[in-house]
Amino acid sequence: MHTPAADRSRHRVLVVEDDDTIGRHLETGLRNNDYAPAWSRTGAAALAEAARKPYDVLLLDLGLPDMDGLDVARTLRARHPNLLIIILTARTDDIDVIAGLDAGADDYLVKPFSLTVVLARLRAHLRRHTATSTPQEPIRLADLVLDTTARRCTLHNEEIQLRPKEFDLLAVLAQHTGEALSRETLMAEVWDENWFGSTKTLDVTMAGLRHRLTRAAAASTRPARLPRITTLRGHGYRLEC
Ligand code: CA
Repeated sequence: MHTPAADRSRHRVLVVEDDDTIGRHLETGLRNNDYAPAWSRTGAAALAEAARKPYDVLLLDLGLPDMDGLDVARTLRARHPNLLIIILTARTDDIDVIAGLDAGADDYLVKPFSLTVVLARLRAHLRRHTATSTPQEPIRLADLVLDTTARRCTLHNEEIQLRPKEFDLLAVLAQHTGEALSRETLMAEVWDENWFGSTKTLDVTMAGLRHRLTRAAAASTRPARLPRITTLRGHGYRLEC
């Protein structure tokens, strides 16, 4: 039996799925894994349910009987900026992936998926969500200051404009200063495991990050020390001050 207090500590997940087998499988699996799920079979029912109660996560099928799932995503994204939206779909074209992200989804799972993958993805997202919503002290890395709460990176008080993923990558490395981080860990922390695209994305982002930091240090009017990011061949990266 669940007490109301225990229920409040559970993450609320709204499953929007017209397929009975998948819907029931998700609802049962989530409940058995300490989530508080609800299940809507149509877009209209999902919009009404989301207006009735706050949810942490939306697991959204795109092919719904009454409306396009993308419209549900768009509407709920506009109403609930902090809602984590994960699209569930049999559509695998990149164009649909991009449409889903444009509509405000945070992630994408292609059917058929296993419950294990859904749960792993939820854990990764919710950990990141909690980490970013709790104010954190700025991290000092040599002459660089990283404020993850304000999402500002400064060198001698001059802000360095980093792209979002460059910032996230630096933040993960900074939270593990001195530790070797594998490519897989970085991909899972900064992007999502099984995200479309290759780990080439990591190399491109790292190159961009290094370039911006070096350029900012060179442009600084005072001597500027940067943290060192070492490439560990066949493994990943390590940041040191
Ligand atoms: Ca469907």
